[in-house]
Amino acid sequence: MVTLSRKTGIGAGPPFPGPVLRLRARLQPLRAAAILSAAPPLLEPVAPLALRPKYSIVSLIRNALSYHQDWQAAWRSPDPKPDYDVVIVGGGGHGLATAYYLAKEHGITNVAVIEKGWLGGGNTGRNTTIVRSNYLWDESAHLYEHSLKLWEGLSQDLNFNTMFSQRGLMSLAHNLHDLREINRRVNAIRLNGIDSEFLTVEQCKAYCPILNTDPRSRYPVMGASLQRRGGTARHDAVAWGLARAADARGVDIIQNCEVTGFRIENGRVKGVETTRGYIGAKKVGCVVAGHASVVASMAGFRLPIESHPLQAMVSEPIKPILDTVVMSNAVHVYVSQSDKGELVLGAGIDAFNSYAQRGSPFILEHQLNALCELFPIFSRLKIMRTWGGIVDTCPDASPIISRTPVEGLYFNCGWGTGGFKATPGSGWVFADTVANDRPHKLAEPFALERFTSGYLIDEHGAAGVAH
Ligand SMILES: Cc1cc2nc3c(=O)[nH]c(=O)nc-3n(C[C@H](O)[C@H](O)[C@H](O)COP(=O)(O)OP(=O)(O)OC[C@H]3O[C@@H](n4cnc5c(N)ncnc54)[C@H](O)[C@@H]3O)c2cc1C
Repeated sequence: MVTLSRKTGIGAGPPFPGPVLRLRARLQPLRAAAILSAAPPLLEPVAPLALRPKYSIVSLIRNALSYHQDWQAAWRSPDPKPDYDVVIVGGGGHGLATAYYLAKEHGITNVAVIEKGWLGGGNTGRNTTIVRSNYLWDESAHLYEHSLKLWEGLSQDLNFNTMFSQRGLMSLAHNLHDLREINRRVNAIRLNGIDSEFLTVEQCKAYCPILNTDPRSRYPVMGASLQRRGGTARHDAVAWGLARAADARGVDIIQNCEVTGFRIENGRVKGVETTRGYIGAKKVGCVVAGHASVVASMAGFRLPIESHPLQAMVSEPIKPILDTVVMSNAVHVYVSQSDKGELVLGAGIDAFNSYAQRGSPFILEHQLNALCELFPIFSRLKIMRTWGGIVDTCPDASPIISRTPVEGLYFNCGWGTGGFKATPGSGWVFADTVANDRPHKLAEPFALERFTSGYLIDEHGAAGVAH
């Protein structure tokens, strides 16, 4: 992994930049901006909150004059305090967004985010970065659309480039059933005021010329739905931007600290046991994705969650060739091209339960078969890396955003294979739920009670794809 050192710049460069590097840094402020905005936290102390500099063209120029030696750490690394108003367990995008909106929207700043590894080291840093809001059922559509609207202003809000790119997202139909389903979905989504359109085969080819639309192919393309406002965002940048903005509002971000239990008295949470000692809390919000059922069991109750590996991979980098996101549920592959030029590829979950963050080779093989079928042009590319994350799936493929049987303890989980797109919206509604001890209106249908009332929100096939 490329690491940043405050003294040396990117990677294992010389201890002090030589004349060429200096010249480059001066001549390429925008490139430097991109690099710096993607920088992981540095280990040195940062200025008091009030003196925290804003990222801007002015700060870029000022720092270029000192050869980019004086950038401050993006967030502090404080020791945990004895107690907080709110402890958020899990430093993925959803946990960080919750902490950020608790501070920003509700004025609750005495908050700690407790992360057992490093920020974004869970599914947030492992996903294929697809963002969209074209869900079928009203409840999901409203929640994901709220999130998409937040994405549209997130970089400005955080003063951090999340590289959100509304490059459009196509979901392909390969048979008559797919076509009818897509048509139905496009109409339903539009009725919710969300952009969605149907593309004929010719329109698919015009929109994505490298797509194989030969009617004789094994999976002929018969049309597609398109959400033009869908696209991708850079997942690490999302975690870092949220962390920096939350920290700037006073939130303590504590990494390498695992929650190992809860202190519960008379049915009310009092705090969390951690590998760095006990931390008291008036309220605790858990946002631990694939480990939701493990953490819930520490509090003495069970969740209707199964944890499965979900794999992804990237190809070697190539010149820009794919300027949209293409998904196929029937063939089961989805692909986009990253800013670095790599193809980012995902597939379906491995069927078995696991916490191992890796999966089976045959899933990868299937995914690559599907890719080559749809895009023969990619058939000679080399795959550079594969990895897996552990996704938390609910029986109805919808999330849980809820109070729990323990007073003051809240869970936000079950986002399964598709929660990255919900990051800001999930944080927004969960912060509101925790702050007011009642579900946010958009989160109400996603409470635990739906598993006893039977009011499930089945997004398995309905969303077309689950990612
Ligand atoms: C391969 C893959 C591809 C995906 N593709 C997409 C996609 O294209 N689009 C999309 O919308 N979604 C996608 N997803 C799903 C998406 O990544 C997740 O739904 C989302 O990132 C969940 O965010 P989170 O913050 O809840 O979880 P995470 O980022 O997993 O954060 C949870 C954190 O909790 C921490 N934790 C766990 N237990 C403890 C403990 N006891 N104490 C302290 N900390 C703890 C973990 O270390 C972790 O950092 C994909 C997922 C995977 C794995």
